[in-house]
Amino acid sequence: MDETTRSYIRRISAANVLRQSGLLKILWRERRPWVYNLSEWTETEPEILMLAMPQLAGIHPEPELRQKLTGRPVRKIHTPACHRCALAHGAGSYVEIYTTHERVICPKHSLWIGEGVAGIADQFSVRDWPQITMPWHHHKNLITRHGHRQVRVGFEAADAINWRWHEQFLHFSAAAGIYDGLAAALPRQANTQALVAAALYPSVIMLTAAIASPFWRRIAYPPHPEVFLERVSHEITDGWKPQGASDPLRQWLETSWASGQPVSDTKLRPRSR
Ligand SMILES: [Zn+2]
Repeated sequence: MDETTRSYIRRISAANVLRQSGLLKILWRERRPWVYNLSEWTETEPEILMLAMPQLAGIHPEPELRQKLTGRPVRKIHTPACHRCALAHGAGSYVEIYTTHERVICPKHSLWIGEGVAGIADQFSVRDWPQITMPWHHHKNLITRHGHRQVRVGFEAADAINWRWHEQFLHFSAAAGIYDGLAAALPRQANTQALVAAALYPSVIMLTAAIASPFWRRIAYPPHPEVFLERVSHEITDGWKPQGASDPLRQWLETSWASGQPVSDTKLRPRSR
């Protein structure tokens, strides 16, 4: 479910000892939607493929199908699926899927499948890490409380701000403590983007909770952002208070949040990611 078409075509090619580019050429050459060729090649009903890969349904799927696709990930972020789930489904170990911000841990295998995972070697077990699994439950509860859109916007901002703090070496001890523990337990993953992302995740969720809350949203509006920053300092950054005009949280409070704009990729996201 939610596999990218690129990944699916790669698997068809591998299973038939064909070049992926060969199949892609045929798909590009023919004018009909890809789903019909894929359906013939794999002897699978088009509707089943459209349900598995919503992007094949196009922008005007039938109303009945559209209803079934409600809540599925849009074509925005993709990541390798949990490799144990992929193996269990007989799909090999590497399957690329579209995902959403809260799908960071496989509920079956407790593997980290969130930010920073570029390949299956980056997936590691967080089963013994309540510091990470509890924020994940908090994350899902936030969605129940505030709605998916509100939490997504908050998460994108909180994630970008925390990475900025991390990269400016102004970050706080909780994330460093989790990172050191993870790196000691998983020496092969040490220094990977996935391990750093997992260590930052609890802080990201704390800030997401503050940003997504309508109560704190009212408080953070000018002229009282200081009260909001006090809370962040007490609950999220171990006493360190975001300061200076160039601080990413302050910048974001004054620009994007105040104007109701979603987080700007160019302003906040580090370029390397
Ligand atoms: Zn799994």
